[in-house]
Amino acid sequence: MEVSTNFIEEIIDNDLETGKHDEIVTRFPPEPNGYLHIGHAKSICINFGIKEKYHGRCNLRFDDTNPAKEDVEYVNSIKEDIEWLGFKWDNLYYGSDYFDKMYECAELLINKGLAYVCDLSAEEIKNTRGTLTEPGVNSPYRDRTVEENLKLFREMKEGKYADGEKVLRAKIDMASPNINMRDPVIYRICHVPHHRTGDKWVIYPMYDFAHPLEDAIEGITHSICTLEFEAHRPLYDWVVNNCDFVNKPRQIEFARLNITRTIMSKRYLKSLVDNGTVTGWDDPRMPTISGLRKRGYTPSAIRDFCSRIGVAKANSEVESSLLEHCVREELNETANRGMAVLNPLKVIVDNYEGSETFVVTNNPNDENAGSHEITFSKELFIDKDDFSLNPPPKYKRLMPGGKVRLRGAYIIEYKGVDEDENGNVVAVHVDYIPDSQSGGTMAKEKVKGVIQYVDAQTAKDATIRMYDYLLLDGEGDFNDRINENTIEIFNGKVEPYLVQKPYTRFQFMRVGYFMVADESTEDNLIFNNIVNLKDSFNSKK
Ligand code: ATP
Ligand code: MG
Repeated sequence: MEVSTNFIEEIIDNDLETGKHDEIVTRFPPEPNGYLHIGHAKSICINFGIKEKYHGRCNLRFDDTNPAKEDVEYVNSIKEDIEWLGFKWDNLYYGSDYFDKMYECAELLINKGLAYVCDLSAEEIKNTRGTLTEPGVNSPYRDRTVEENLKLFREMKEGKYADGEKVLRAKIDMASPNINMRDPVIYRICHVPHHRTGDKWVIYPMYDFAHPLEDAIEGITHSICTLEFEAHRPLYDWVVNNCDFVNKPRQIEFARLNITRTIMSKRYLKSLVDNGTVTGWDDPRMPTISGLRKRGYTPSAIRDFCSRIGVAKANSEVESSLLEHCVREELNETANRGMAVLNPLKVIVDNYEGSETFVVTNNPNDENAGSHEITFSKELFIDKDDFSLNPPPKYKRLMPGGKVRLRGAYIIEYKGVDEDENGNVVAVHVDYIPDSQSGGTMAKEKVKGVIQYVDAQTAKDATIRMYDYLLLDGEGDFNDRINENTIEIFNGKVEPYLVQKPYTRFQFMRVGYFMVADESTEDNLIFNNIVNLKDSFNSKK
């Protein structure tokens, strides 16, 4: 037997050992009311991970019992995202597939004297529910006869009543210490067409009634959900038991993923889309799976992140730098290297004529990655940040009186600058040191540092987008922490090797990891910054 790695797997191991189950069945049950985010990835990795580990099954089930907020656009994006993460569901179901069965269960409860039609308004129900210290008050409709309840419930179904006029409530205990057990509403009237069942139904089951039934119908053995449902578990069990299911799923709660500087709620993410703060659910700044994909994240980095954060019972906040660390670590092994300058500054090599090429390795960490050619000529670009007329102490780049190596090519030595009428440097003049290329007789010449460059003759223009978190650091209401500057756009220059098809990932040497953007073309090159080179996660440890 494999060693258990978390408390959920311990429960499963035990259930297999005692013979309670011989096949493990889980499900991932998103409500199709938004795109999946990195928090959902945690739940996906847990549920599909269990399927893989125990050779069981995992269903994808759209929990579409609330017609008002749901849409097929979301259904499609959710499927795409799960597949992209590398998981396969065994069956695809919709909660709405079970509306008939759920309705039957409701009548069964009525027949057992365990449910009644209540005419109180939502407000009145709330006001009579009691508090943590005081019991609730019985509804005046609580003792309706089975016949009357059946008649009214059927009329609700037939559309005789307006929204909110009547509800069906479970008859449990208005004095229960658990407020969820105080005659919860299990069916409500809602005259809204459903994305799958159209206008067949005008009554819809409430989540706390629908979810246990969906699990039980599908033969789910372990129904894994987030911690806020812990207090709903007695109701979950009540529904399963009283609707006469033999096969009883077990609800297990785990801690929801929260990440620093990241908004995780679908409702808030939707507001960013609706008010135009971002370009869509898949904007590269969004913590959605589709946003991370457009940004340049890989499925394996996201899965690695989910495995590193583990599964715990206590809520906590994970550092956003851990997610960055995971993708950086992967790309360090897999991404080919290239040279780009974000803020081009012209360099003129006074003592050089003509042009030549050098061969550079694509990835020092992957000997199979091969090599490519770079060119060198009289006019080059370096990054503005790599030159200073008045350098601070310990400056390791190009400056008056200094020499630097141009990565993959020659050592250059400062000679002077051209300035415009305002005194801004528009070009730097240098001499190159002949034979200072790698392996050359002058290669050992002492230099301040190594900087990247691109050859002006062959360089391509590129739009390079740098991103920042949607939230500023800190705690408290995210509305007070909105980061106004989440995108910075550079008109840079890149070597021709970086002209590749969208979704190709590179390390821009000395800068960070970048991906050719989804919408990039050969004539309009666009790169997204995935993550910088510096690891703030490791340095914090
Ligand atoms: P939101 O509150 O953002 O709308 P939700 O919980 O309503 O999220 P669902 O679509 O209902 O989203 O969730 C599908 C599954 O994903 C559920 O089992 C839910 O518990 C899980 N899930 C959602 N958010 C997180 C999170 N931040 N961490 C872990 N699991 C999550
Ligand atoms: Mg939800």
